[in-house]
Amino acid sequence: MPETFTSFFLRCGRERFDAILFDIDGTLSSGVCPLPGARELLLLLEAEHFPYILLTNDSCNSHEEKAAILRGGNIPVTAERIYSCGDVLKYWKKESRYNGELLFQCGKLGNPSYAVQADINVTTDPARLPECKGVIFGEGAYNWQPALEGVFNYFLANPQAPLIVVNPDSYWPSCTHSGMGIGSGAQARFICAVLKDAGIIVEPLYIGKPYPPIYQGIMAELEELLGKKILPERIAMVGDSLASDIKGANANKLCSCLVLSGITTPELAAQASEERRPEMIFSGV
Ligand SMILES: [Mg+2]
Repeated sequence: MPETFTSFFLRCGRERFDAILFDIDGTLSSGVCPLPGARELLLLLEAEHFPYILLTNDSCNSHEEKAAILRGGNIPVTAERIYSCGDVLKYWKKESRYNGELLFQCGKLGNPSYAVQADINVTTDPARLPECKGVIFGEGAYNWQPALEGVFNYFLANPQAPLIVVNPDSYWPSCTHSGMGIGSGAQARFICAVLKDAGIIVEPLYIGKPYPPIYQGIMAELEELLGKKILPERIAMVGDSLASDIKGANANKLCSCLVLSGITTPELAAQASEERRPEMIFSGV
């Protein structure tokens, strides 16, 4: 059995890393319950003032909401320790030379909203789609049919407009029932598939893990936080998903650390293709 991330950290992690990024579900928690060692590790990092951030594809909950959910499960986290793919909207805004145009938002982007915090002008009213200059996929519980049909018709008329998908995940453990919920990435790909049937190709811009924007965003954030230039190989990305955490970390040259406490079995880890192969494997945090 491989050692835990904590025992590695205590042995040599302080010298090896400048900061640690943690995935949440399957890494620190299962649902809202802490996984073994997670609480103790976070308390240790706090006590040592060692930089760490919880890097999440959850754009449905603001930092305050996410931290409150985790604290409710006895995972000691404050809002400033959360970095969401929703936070990257502010960098998108800068790079796309966004100029206050109205965008249509499917679903939710937290309260307070990541779009509003990035100063992006959004509406969730499908009747206003003709005024919009693009679409942002949020997530969570919302009335899909009018929104998705509206978006389909919008791209039929505006095939060049941007389609921004904040959370690329296909599915995740549902917060409203005991099974899996269908994620915003799957909804966006569904729209793209229907558009393709209609002869229109729309390439979404994905923001969250494993895509580059969230890693570019968090690296900029860490450099600001630590006040120095950071080498990506000195950042540990600790997560349970080969397709998301490990692939994203490898593509962005971070040190990819797989934990076997979530969705990846040792057999799956052993079969991983090169782009999804973890640099280090731990039994859990
Ligand atoms: Mg996970």
